[in-house]
Amino acid sequence: FKRIPLEEKSRDELYQMGESFNHMMNLLETNYDKQKQFVANASHELKTPLTVIESYANLIKRRGIDNPEVVAESVEAIHSEAIRMKDLTQQLLLLAKHGEQWKLSLERFDLYPLLKESVQAFRNAYSREITLQGEEIIAYADKQKLKQLIYILIDNAIKYSEQEIRVSLVRDGAKGRIDVEDNGIGIPESDLPKVFDRFYRVDKARTRKSGGSGLGLSLAKELSEALGMKLTLESTEGKGTTASIHFQAES
Ligand code: ADP
Repeated sequence: FKRIPLEEKSRDELYQMGESFNHMMNLLETNYDKQKQFVANASHELKTPLTVIESYANLIKRRGIDNPEVVAESVEAIHSEAIRMKDLTQQLLLLAKHGEQWKLSLERFDLYPLLKESVQAFRNAYSREITLQGEEIIAYADKQKLKQLIYILIDNAIKYSEQEIRVSLVRDGAKGRIDVEDNGIGIPESDLPKVFDRFYRVDKARTRKSGGSGLGLSLAKELSEALGMKLTLESTEGKGTTASIHFQAES
């Protein structure tokens, strides 16, 4: 590779160099803007529960000394906001690893018991009706990460529906699929491509009440990519949503 001094380069070459330099700067700027947006969104999301915690702590200080009801109500609110912050920071930490190699701990295992355990955990925590259908299907995956992925999908089904939720494990030849189906509010078609974006929520007011942060599905997508699986979402507004994880089944 021979270095040619700038003054000896042709006009075309100089023009091309300028073009690629511009292109590079644009890429850097876009990435920088994205990072800035991410930090701004994350700070905003963390600030909301912190403000609630602060105001309830103040309430205890001012009126809590001889008022057990105020204390009980405040402690309850502080506790749930603290849990929300903990979940949020956990998701943020995982997402911050974006681009880095995820450390996977791969093993062959039957997915059915994993699903059974997850479904049971949600039934206990939320007293909701969640059915599980399927048979043994062996996959080669990271148990912990797959569990996280399934948790995000069931958690969404719980947040955005009120009726029964159906989880199923389906085999189609060499392919396997986990479906999480709800008959909830569904997602408008125009929002569907955007729900995988970080911090995107269809209805901010409504999802704030349900404790959403807009990070679940973007994390779910990254988890499924890291696992070599594919995540798809089918939804009809007002009818319901089916989230599916597609994977290679082991024989
Ligand atoms: P959130 O923490 O807000 O649930 P997600 O990234 O998991 O964030 O989802 C993004 C948005 O997609 C949600 O705010 C919600 O509007 C919509 N959504 C996700 N799952 C469902 C579902 N099962 N039914 C209806 N809407 C959903």
